[in-house]
Amino acid sequence: MSEPLKILFLSAEVAPFAKTGGLGDIGGSLPKELRAMGHDVRVVMPAYRNIEAGYPGVEPVEGQLDVPVRQGTVPAGVFRGELPGSDVPIYFVAQQQLFNRERIYGYWDDPYRFAFFSRAALELVTKQGWRPDVVHCHDWHTAPAVTWLATAGQADPRFQGIPSVFTIHNLAHQGKVSWDIFDYMGVFTHSLTEEPFGEVNFMARGIFHAALVNTVSPSYAREIMSPEGGAGLDKLLRHRQHNLHGILNGLDVDDWNPADDPRLEFHFDADNLEGRLKNRRALQARANLPQREDIPLVAMVSRLDWQKGLDITGHVIHLLMNGYSGDAQFIVLGTGERQYEEMFAHLAAHHPGKMTAFLDYNAGFAPTVYAGSDIFLMPSLFEPCGLGQMIAMRYGSVPVVRASGGLADTVQDGITGFSFYEYSDGAFWHALQRAIYIYNVDKESWRAIQRNGMTTDFSWQRSAHGYQQLYEWAIASHQHLF
Ligand code: ADP
Repeated sequence: MSEPLKILFLSAEVAPFAKTGGLGDIGGSLPKELRAMGHDVRVVMPAYRNIEAGYPGVEPVEGQLDVPVRQGTVPAGVFRGELPGSDVPIYFVAQQQLFNRERIYGYWDDPYRFAFFSRAALELVTKQGWRPDVVHCHDWHTAPAVTWLATAGQADPRFQGIPSVFTIHNLAHQGKVSWDIFDYMGVFTHSLTEEPFGEVNFMARGIFHAALVNTVSPSYAREIMSPEGGAGLDKLLRHRQHNLHGILNGLDVDDWNPADDPRLEFHFDADNLEGRLKNRRALQARANLPQREDIPLVAMVSRLDWQKGLDITGHVIHLLMNGYSGDAQFIVLGTGERQYEEMFAHLAAHHPGKMTAFLDYNAGFAPTVYAGSDIFLMPSLFEPCGLGQMIAMRYGSVPVVRASGGLADTVQDGITGFSFYEYSDGAFWHALQRAIYIYNVDKESWRAIQRNGMTTDFSWQRSAHGYQQLYEWAIASHQHLF
């Protein structure tokens, strides 16, 4: 093994303490995997209301943290716990006025809240006499730490020469705020082309100042360098292209394991699919569909958001339900934008006994949909990484996906699933038809595709090796500077 590294990991979300999406998953899983590889990882996140209210295993740390801002300091408290199932320490920065609120995000002063958090997190670990080899920041919320380290921090001997790695999970949220946040942080710097006069863009800052930048899949890393995928930052990303990488997220393979998933009625694995068949019948019963075994059961589990390709889905489901590819059944589990909920409700009303729409969020039921369906649809317009297709493959549902971002990197056409490139209902329908054709006429090939997906390694172990490499590069790139 390479040298153990001291890694400071900063994130606005860390599962299970706080999670609204993939950011929380990575925060909960990656540090544990790095720890298993022998690294000294310490995680810091804000103490949201649930922590202040008392969280099992999380204790207040004695003493006060004086966080430097503007001309003075602001006091903060600290809580300490461990990531469940590990000995990775996690610290929580407590500041009643800033973090003890109903939600995690969505306030006018979010940039100030997270700038404070970022600065406090750096102060917290050095107060313990711990000097990290690298600081790993995620999305715009912790980009202020990247900026501070690369600017004001270089004048502070405690931080001089520490490189940062910046991971983009969602380029759409950039954290724009007025320039006086730099006064607040004690940072003097020039503006970026991406920042209109008087504005700071923290996502752009993270990309600009970090030693290395990465996104959560190699394809997404390429796509965001184009004007179509760059959300206004493509030029900056092209400028940094030699330092821009893509590392696929892993899947928590203990949580998502068809052999012992407690949310499933029947268990199975790649060598024994009998339990899968039983789940299929249970799913059909729950959806009020005839328990036929000879026709494909197609499914979708998704947030009903424009990003997910729903505007090319309606016509495809219409064709599927009208028998243009033979008899088939369709189940959707999803909630979100009203127009898409109505679209599915409307289609379901026209095709009783063939299609059922569960228009809610149901984490307990989702595994049965993955485990009971034959084909899983994910026609996303863009997808930084995507977990749905990985879960589907692991549970034996063959994915039909649009080859964008992480979908392009995880689904191999004709080997572990089916994919299409052009963002159109025609291309989508053609890919689905190919899948259904093989399902109907070539059971042996179908079984091979299903098996390939079920046995693919989606674990965090593989991703963690990628991050270790990135840290080593970041450290090496800084060594000759000091
Ligand atoms: P995103 O993070 O953009 O929503 P991902 O594919 O990365 O997309 O992750 C989606 C996760 O959310 C999967 O675990 C999926 O099972 C789950 N999910 C989405 N919609 C629902 C729903 N309505 N009910 C239960 N789980 C859902």
